Amino acid sequence: MSDSQVHELSFSQNVNFLVDRAITAIDLSEDTAAAIKACASIIQVTFPVKIRDKIEMFTGWRAVHSTHRLPAKGGIRYAPYVNQDEVEALAALMSYKCALMDIPFGGSKGALLIDPSKYTRDEMQMITRRFTIELVRKGFLSPSTNVPAPDVGTGQREMAWMADTYKNLYPDDINASACVTGKPIQHGGIRGRTEATGRGVQYAIQEFFRHPEDVKNARLTPGIAGKTIVIQGFGNVGYHASRLLSLEDDAKIIAVIKSEGVVINENGLDIDALHRHIIEHKTMKGFPNATFHEDGKKALELPCDILIPAALEAQITCDNADRIQAKLIVEAANGPATYEADKVLSAKGIIIIPDIYANAGGVTVSYFEWIRNLSHIRFGRMQRRHEEMRSREFAALLEELTGRTISDDIRKRVIRGAGEEDLVNSGLDDTMRNGYQQLTEAMRSNPKITDLRTAAYAIAIEKISRTYMDVGIY
Ligand code: NAD
Repeated sequence: MSDSQVHELSFSQNVNFLVDRAITAIDLSEDTAAAIKACASIIQVTFPVKIRDKIEMFTGWRAVHSTHRLPAKGGIRYAPYVNQDEVEALAALMSYKCALMDIPFGGSKGALLIDPSKYTRDEMQMITRRFTIELVRKGFLSPSTNVPAPDVGTGQREMAWMADTYKNLYPDDINASACVTGKPIQHGGIRGRTEATGRGVQYAIQEFFRHPEDVKNARLTPGIAGKTIVIQGFGNVGYHASRLLSLEDDAKIIAVIKSEGVVINENGLDIDALHRHIIEHKTMKGFPNATFHEDGKKALELPCDILIPAALEAQITCDNADRIQAKLIVEAANGPATYEADKVLSAKGIIIIPDIYANAGGVTVSYFEWIRNLSHIRFGRMQRRHEEMRSREFAALLEELTGRTISDDIRKRVIRGAGEEDLVNSGLDDTMRNGYQQLTEAMRSNPKITDLRTAAYAIAIEKISRTYMDVGIY
């Protein structure tokens, strides 16, 4: 492939090249591979909304990549640069991600071409509600067939508007609130969903460090504490991942990159203080005890232990891949490294924890939220106090048998029953651990699989093809 061809690869072509590499490793037949790779359906909607006495036209897409499991699941992105190819690529990533992580959903993704910063809250509400009506009427949004979630430029607020619009259209649907995930708690959301993708990134890194061979291959020393991390993106995913890794694992976040530039402190940034600074000043500039540079992308090349791209696709390309100095890349964003960049990075011995595994925390907890909505009960509500009572009795028995008294502090911790967030985080941790163990097992059992990304795709494709074989294609 020539250099110009390499540069012209679209996002979905990049994904398909990665899929092809995995297909070669598992010897899948060409026709089955073609069936798995194809995007099942896509709609483009264009609709008018009256804004400040003028009619404005908006364009959006929703792609369904696979329906081997239903509902199809995937975020909705609001950005001024989105296009159909990107939406199709992201929908495909969702299919592979859900299959890999044993989440019983097909893959979907949506986007609206809009710059949210140009509109007021009320205007965004009108636009979102109108977009939702378009998606519902065309069969691209419902609790049983297609369930959106937040992505770049959207969050709890948009999900609440979407759920409410769906409820108004179908007041008799008792499961209406399961039509989207990532909702605010008071509107059927689940505790832990907002930080789920970032927490999933943290759990993925924790699991990686539980595999000494993998740590050695990455030329890293054991343990997350003290590891230097550069993170790109400080939105939902980037903020929570960097906060949790610094507060709970003692990692050192030495650089945070946003669209406007990068802040650097080699001794580690105070992530909560940076977050407060951005809320107060609407910029990273002027953040105390750190240097600011406008060329944020250059900071991807800083020497560090771990690089976490958590912003956008195609940030590491063949233009900068050979200058990346991190030992481990954890893809919190979708598609942050292109196919060609991936080859350069691997040749340099950099280990990549791939997107379809690393950022699966969001859809995992979305799955929990969907189940919570269908079962109409908060997780833990039935068993929490019962668990506490049993633990209290056990503590009393232990005291009686040993003749010693358990301290108040330990007693409190031991008898505490699990609340919803504890259960969500436990389910997320278990899913992320299992996911990583599948990757290493695939590499151990198939000599043609030599990297984690190929392992992830190979597992996902095998699972999807098995579903096709079980039920047949008709
Ligand atoms: P977000 O809108 O909350 O934040 C995006 C961040 O990226 C912002 O801090 C923004 O400043 C930064 N950014 C944008 N353009 C940039 C550029 N050119 N250079 C540097 N920084 C830039 O989005 P998010 O929800 O955090 O999503 C980030 C990535 O994670 C996306 O690839 C998304 O698809 C993926 N993802 C998100 C979720 C989720 O639950 N939100 C789940 C899985 C994957």
